[in-house]
Amino acid sequence: TEVLRLENITKIYKQETHQVFALRDVCCSLNKGEMVAIMGTSGSGKSTLLNMVSALDEPTSGDLYLLGKKTKEIFKEPHASDYRKANIGFIFQSFQLLKNLNVEDNIALPLILNDVSQVEIRERIGWVMKQLGIDKWRKHRPTELSGGQQQRVAVARAIITNPPILLADEPTGSLDFNTTKDIMNLLVQLKEANNQSILLVTHDPYVATFANRVLFFHDGQIINEYHNTHQEQDL
Ligand code: ADP
Ligand code: ADP
Repeated sequence: TEVLRLENITKIYKQETHQVFALRDVCCSLNKGEMVAIMGTSGSGKSTLLNMVSALDEPTSGDLYLLGKKTKEIFKEPHASDYRKANIGFIFQSFQLLKNLNVEDNIALPLILNDVSQVEIRERIGWVMKQLGIDKWRKHRPTELSGGQQQRVAVARAIITNPPILLADEPTGSLDFNTTKDIMNLLVQLKEANNQSILLVTHDPYVATFANRVLFFHDGQIINEYHNTHQEQDL
């Protein structure tokens, strides 16, 4: 089933002397349990697309459907914030963990922001730590961990609320090859175990091999799309 659908999304940014068409009539969708990779040159509209999907920015025209339901109102606060909290987990290139909090508290943060009870927080943390094998770093500070370990923690934070959609902007951009492979295998595992849908932006063709589908952007449009029939994560 379709978790997300973008219909004729156009985004125009007004710059001083001219307008920039960051997205032109983009149509695409994300299915349940599907990983879609977005590739394309710098300035082709990839970040703009993620910002539309996460309602961090409003399209100039076009519609976004969540589980088949048109969601015009999500682009206005406070709906946008509620929509993100309920539906989206974010994973960043730079991990964005809070230095002064230990691993456990970093992971708990989205639950605290969602007013989840202490008992449930404890349960969820236990579940996610086990699923990602990060229990042993529970009391560590992020600075005591390697890049790959920090990204594991960041993935745990992204899935702790069990959001239907994970958005990842260059999640392996600062990792070496073996760590990239680990993190991508982890994301594949998660989408299969939890039926989560993952939209990720990457420059790395190897990372794209883990996705079910790859969309190529150029000048605000999808110029190519392909399906991966076999996954090469055991390479
Ligand atoms: P990508 O992520 O593929 O590098 P972006 O989505 O960031 O591309 O940018 C697409 C186009 O929109 C670029 O030409 C960029 O300069 C322009 N753009 C992006 N954000 C803004 C903004 N906030 N204001 C003005 N122009 C923007
Ligand atoms: P609130 O409005 O309650 O302060 P937000 O809706 O701004 O919360 O943030 C909800 C989620 O969106 C958070 O998990 C945060 O990490 C993410 N987020 C907020 N701003 C950005 C941003 N500029 N880029 C990417 N993710 C963001």
